[in-house]
Amino acid sequence: MIKELLEAKETDSFDELCVRLGNFLGIGKAVPPKVLLRAIDDPPFADNLIVCRNTPGFLQSLFDDPKTAQYDGDAGKKKEDGKSNTELIAKAATAFLKWGKAGFSTVDEATLERRENACLACPNLSEPKNKLQKLVAVKLDKERVGRRTGDKTCKICGCNVARKIKLPGESCPDSHPAIEGMTRWNEPQRVAAAVAE
Ligand code: SF4
Repeated sequence: MIKELLEAKETDSFDELCVRLGNFLGIGKAVPPKVLLRAIDDPPFADNLIVCRNTPGFLQSLFDDPKTAQYDGDAGKKKEDGKSNTELIAKAATAFLKWGKAGFSTVDEATLERRENACLACPNLSEPKNKLQKLVAVKLDKERVGRRTGDKTCKICGCNVARKIKLPGESCPDSHPAIEGMTRWNEPQRVAAAVAE
């Protein structure tokens, strides 16, 4: 199903992109337009969709989230700052490529442990607050690398930390307190353009 995303083109229609995303997520049909619009506009939401692939109950909760309803109909198009349909589709096709790559690879064990140690020591590590954050929570296991942050989220980006630290394309949103140009994960800070790609 990853092909669905990697083969997305700027010549696809909006409806075709909804079908591609639905197939990628394993629901066998198009996602509602509001889901695609929010996924393009809200990276943590897109991450949550990827995490909940092939679990229809969780996906439905994401689709029914009140914030997703804000992307319904004309209101959703307005959220995209008046972009034309062509621009919207181009943005979606680019995002699909990114999700397709990010959704199927994970960092090596040493990177995972280094990132997790940084999050465990970070003042931005916080309790999940909303339904979405609780929905994608990871079961806490203090002895197991990759699960030591459990359901904790990052106060800055709102992501579930245990999910975020596994993805190669993710980056810590905060500056390292002692090393200029690095994040708290001790990785180079990305320039704004790269983060938004
Ligand atoms: S991602 Fe970065 S800012 Fe967020 S909790 Fe982890 S170390 Fe802190």
